[in-house]
Amino acid sequence: MSYTLVLLLLLGLGSHAQRVAVVGGGIAAAALLRHLDPALDVHVFERGTRLGGRLGETWIGSVSVETGGSVLHSSNRYMLQFLNELDLDQSKDSDATMGFWEHGFKFVSSKESWKTALKMLWRYGFSHLITSRLVADVQSKWERVYDLQRQNVSFKSPKDMFEALGLFKMTQVDAKSFLMQHWVSELYIDEFVDAISRVNYGQRSELNAFVDSVSLIGAGMSGHLWSVEQGNSVVVEQLIKKYADAIHLGTLVKRIEHDPLANKFTIHSEKTLSGLTQSQPFDVVVIATPIETSDIQFNVNCFSASATRKFVKTHVTFVNGKVNPRLFNSANDVPDIIVNLERESSLPFRSLSVHAILEDGSFIYKLFSDSVLADAQIGRIFSPIIEVQRFSYKAYPYLEPTPIWPEFEILPGLFYLNAMESAVSCMETEAVAGKNVAVLVNAYSSKVL
Ligand SMILES: Cc1cc2nc3c(=O)[nH]c(=O)nc-3n(C[C@H](O)[C@H](O)[C@H](O)COP(=O)(O)OP(=O)(O)OC[C@H]3O[C@@H](n4cnc5c(N)ncnc54)[C@H](O)[C@@H]3O)c2cc1C
Repeated sequence: MSYTLVLLLLLGLGSHAQRVAVVGGGIAAAALLRHLDPALDVHVFERGTRLGGRLGETWIGSVSVETGGSVLHSSNRYMLQFLNELDLDQSKDSDATMGFWEHGFKFVSSKESWKTALKMLWRYGFSHLITSRLVADVQSKWERVYDLQRQNVSFKSPKDMFEALGLFKMTQVDAKSFLMQHWVSELYIDEFVDAISRVNYGQRSELNAFVDSVSLIGAGMSGHLWSVEQGNSVVVEQLIKKYADAIHLGTLVKRIEHDPLANKFTIHSEKTLSGLTQSQPFDVVVIATPIETSDIQFNVNCFSASATRKFVKTHVTFVNGKVNPRLFNSANDVPDIIVNLERESSLPFRSLSVHAILEDGSFIYKLFSDSVLADAQIGRIFSPIIEVQRFSYKAYPYLEPTPIWPEFEILPGLFYLNAMESAVSCMETEAVAGKNVAVLVNAYSSKVL
């Protein structure tokens, strides 16, 4: 053996960089990549033809709108950090009036916050105040995660994370029971809390109490709401392009094989357009997509069937046109956001909200619904109609309390970001999961080397 080779081996220069496969190109993957050790050789596999996952934009009229995840809260540290690092801008949400519809408007907020506060006091007593305090307490407990992550503390499972934050018990009780235990009125829960949960998660206060608190925070109970001026998905695209060593777009991961003796993985993938297949070896695999919607097969039984989640189908429809106010028993004006609280409803949407007013006096509306809105259904709500665009998502899990959650670390070397979505599903919590798994991967790969 030559002296040079011995020296190279001693210095570790002969060893190859650890190969990491990341399956999925959404915000969770982007946040993971941002925090991975730069010495790792990171490959991203994304079955779509673009990066972003459940984040994306479209143009309607002259306005760019978010088709998937849209609003962020001012307390969200990672998304703000990414924005600064990428030199992108915030666009702030404007104040909007909101009406809760159940065979007529039960409650309509005002443009002036003091008027809304008085109306709420009149209808719901102190319930809004009590809920604001409860939610603020959840927010301060949750924000401890940033201090822990700054010290590179990581958790093997979301359960460990929520226990450390003192929040696990809240995930195990439904929001309605939790709020009623704290003397919040049933009327307030059935109207206000349910309306916000319907808009954010297509569910009501059967949601676990933690995620419903996140939903209320996301409705602007404190702080302010914002989006990325250039489009939320631009954060994902730019982070992945900056930190990945290879990006395999239009590439479906079909099968992951684990060799327990060598502790290596083989990724079998297929190009979605050409059908071309490929098999590549990796030291570490990170699943950055909900396993239930991924169509991935494994040679080992590593995902417990009892932790399988069902996803809420959400159909998003954009309409450039004008709402017919007579449908809502009004001669002219309707609230900017209408939430339909009826269980058996002749109105085919969960919520309808104004996104912009164009120069020609027409509006851009966004509707969430349980099923695809047919032309005839849209024609009943709007007149005139200038343009319609439709998008469909398996948007988030049914987030009622459940004791069985998947782990972040499935096997040595196999990690799962979207384990987080058994507790909560939103951009920021996915970014937190990304950072957590990055710390786990960095520690694992430094041990293996
Ligand atoms: C309509 C809607 C509204 C929402 N509103 C908000 C909101 O206002 N605020 C908020 O914070 N959150 C919101 N959310 C939730 C938020 O968008 C998601 O929690 C978040 O974007 C999930 O990111 P992710 O990276 O974990 O997963 P994803 O974005 O789903 O990324 C996973 C990626 O993996 C890819 N993939 C899957 N299987 C494979 C495979 N076998 N091979 C290769 N690639 C694969 C997918 O194509 C996808 O791109 C909303 C979601 C929807 C749908």
